[in-house]
Amino acid sequence: MREAASGYYIDFPGNAAASGLLILPLFPAIETLPQRHKPNMTNLTPEIVRNAISDHPDPETGRGLDSMGQIKDIVVDQNHAALTVGLTSHSAPMADELSDALESKIVAAAPGSKVTITYVDHPRPPARIGQIALKAKSVIVVGSGKGGVGKSTVAASLALTLRRYGAKVGLMDADVYGPSIPQLLGLSGRPAVTAQKRIEPVKLGDDLPVMSMGFLVEPDQAVIWRGPMLHGSINQFLGDTEWGDLDYLVIDMPPGTGDVALTLSQALPLAGAVIVCTPQEVALLDAIKAVSMFRKVEIPILGMVENMSGFQCPDCGKTYDIFGKGGARQKAEELNIPFLGGLPIDITLRKAGDEGKLADVIQSDDASRAPFDAICKAVVRELAMRAANQPTKVSLPTL
Ligand code: ADP
Repeated sequence: MREAASGYYIDFPGNAAASGLLILPLFPAIETLPQRHKPNMTNLTPEIVRNAISDHPDPETGRGLDSMGQIKDIVVDQNHAALTVGLTSHSAPMADELSDALESKIVAAAPGSKVTITYVDHPRPPARIGQIALKAKSVIVVGSGKGGVGKSTVAASLALTLRRYGAKVGLMDADVYGPSIPQLLGLSGRPAVTAQKRIEPVKLGDDLPVMSMGFLVEPDQAVIWRGPMLHGSINQFLGDTEWGDLDYLVIDMPPGTGDVALTLSQALPLAGAVIVCTPQEVALLDAIKAVSMFRKVEIPILGMVENMSGFQCPDCGKTYDIFGKGGARQKAEELNIPFLGGLPIDITLRKAGDEGKLADVIQSDDASRAPFDAICKAVVRELAMRAANQPTKVSLPTL
């Protein structure tokens, strides 16, 4: 082999024709590459990692993770960053999305980095909200324009899904005209009253407190509500019940009317309303009324859920859009509110509701719970976006 100015001559013994061929290297040697052609590797350091993510908003408060003391540890080994991040149980459903966001910020700051994130619990007790004794971070109401659209199913499933992710949740059935939460969850019994005149809610397992008028009246008894009585009962449910420290209180609202919404909006600041509707045009008209009602009582709207959108036949696998499909998404766009997701007609869900086993479905049926997972994440994402746009003052818990 002989060196040439910009290549190598290779002599092939016995092959005179090919001998002396100038082989030009395809690429110049790596050392001679101009800087811009070198793989863009940055020396990863804990400072680079911290700077990349310090301002990323904590999903709960909307404030920078670093300023909230949630970046617990950063260990760098060559191009691998191992982070320990504190996350409150309120934000637990956002863990995967937060990991993706942090990783992409670190990789943008130091291309070629590998990132591993471990979450640890970041305790942050809720403060007392409103003028009542309730301690909760986010109170979410679930409403609809009319009955029978799956509002209670969505409210109960939202509470169960948040709980499955590790959040501390309470479920209040404010549908005093037709309380169906006890039925959906297979709960019965009467709430006890403590010596301090506080109400002990009925519990699902040992960690989901539930209050419902259904525990206080016989199932076949009709209750006639006068305005002041309704107001008083809702306030008692909210303020006199031993809910414990909650991340979320999910409230199943009565359909259509605004009286309970008005009482709630006067009693405490609500994180927002989820509106459930079915896709057909008449149902959507009712949903629009519900949106307008929540707007009137100044309850922010988190978004719309389309229930019973499509039915997959278990026999032939074909999907039938019995009530139509996509109407709620379109209406949500027109009304300028987020669309939180859709739920198919699901026989498993209907059976579970009738048998009081909704909690079992959310705990262990991957297919039936998947749409609820997506809706739950969409709700928490919506809350996180609002917190980031308007960081709340972190108040000290009331002792
Ligand atoms: P609402 O609170 O709006 O009156 P419910 O949540 O009580 O409605 O639901 C009414 C009935 O419809 C219940 O029997 C429930 O199990 C059933 N249901 C609700 N959503 C679905 C669904 N996506 N698929 C099948 N059945 C459903």
